[in-house]
Amino acid sequence: MGLFAHFDIDAFYAQVEQVKNPALRGKPVIVGGNSLRRSVVASASYEARAYGVKSGMPLFQALRLCPRCLVVKPNFPLYQEFSRKFYRLLYSISPDLEIISQDEGVVDLSRCGLIYRDPVASLREKREEIKTQLGLTVSAGMGPTKLVAKLAASRAKPDGFLHIPPEKTEQFLESFQLEEIPGIGQKTLTLLRERGISSVADLRGVSVQNLRGLLGRKGENLRETLRRENQVPILSPEKPRSVSRGQTLERDIFTLKEAKPHILHLSDCVAMRLREEGARGGRVCLRIRWSDFSESQKCLPLSPPGNDALRIYHKAISLAEKMMDGRPVRLLAVEASSLTYAEQTLLFTPREERMMDAVERIRRRFGFSAVRFLGEKQEKESKLFVFRRAGKLF
Ligand SMILES: [Mg+2]
Repeated sequence: MGLFAHFDIDAFYAQVEQVKNPALRGKPVIVGGNSLRRSVVASASYEARAYGVKSGMPLFQALRLCPRCLVVKPNFPLYQEFSRKFYRLLYSISPDLEIISQDEGVVDLSRCGLIYRDPVASLREKREEIKTQLGLTVSAGMGPTKLVAKLAASRAKPDGFLHIPPEKTEQFLESFQLEEIPGIGQKTLTLLRERGISSVADLRGVSVQNLRGLLGRKGENLRETLRRENQVPILSPEKPRSVSRGQTLERDIFTLKEAKPHILHLSDCVAMRLREEGARGGRVCLRIRWSDFSESQKCLPLSPPGNDALRIYHKAISLAEKMMDGRPVRLLAVEASSLTYAEQTLLFTPREERMMDAVERIRRRFGFSAVRFLGEKQEKESKLFVFRRAGKLF
């Protein structure tokens, strides 16, 4: 049986702001962007949440719910400092650590039996230690699987600790709504409900075959994560599962032509990040947030896996061609997933990769914006790109 501990900083950005600025303590605080019209709530203090304010909500809507909420602009470098310290503290609990986000991580304790004779008591103490060191409240959950640990942490919030022993796992999971289970989005929820599956207990009653028929591989995975014997290994922090870059657009766009420069830039950023990680993506996804805040995502395999901007861009463009239908687009995001880290042995390095190597070398010396992809030159040779450096084309 596995043993996992999930840590999650409470209302991260908002709490950091309250710690840094005593005038904000005990008050409803929203951390959000500059523009009232287009920004969303990045983080809300518990005082603001009491009014129904949630992360991801448009700022104007949040202020309608809570007119006395104080809006603070995000200070990302400061949050990053806290994150790094948080990661270091988690790493000291066990090197088997998976970073989930800036304020969330899970440690696998199954190899720590000799260090933690009484892991529950030790981890309870560890949470206190992290709180003191970080100066922020953190919630923690422990359980036999990653999913149970995560849900336990969410139920312990704010500033709590909850341990779910293996024999209580089923009962605990069944106390959640289907939509609270990570991986069950609106689409999946609708499909499940259509089949009369409306609770976690119902879901556990469905055979793997039926679930596969209904949701494909996702159904299989879902069923697997709900098993208490589930032992999805944690991923070490230096190896992300996917790399993505998104951008809320200055104004809504409607056409593929308008989308192209944005998709090119995002693909370029994703490629650079993959290269930093020494990873190649085997799948490219494009996510679109429409102006009504609904989202669509589609993916295509990238074969062989790669980390050059151009091939990622071409995949993302063919996805955009399928997805964009004239509806106003608010946000675009490009993601590379199915990452592989093995050193690729190629007889011939593809032309695109050789070019990216050169681009990377220039950027390392002169900064990211020293070289910019400007766009495709013309359809005839669709792989030819134009660069700009220091105002000159070459
Ligand atoms: Mg959090």
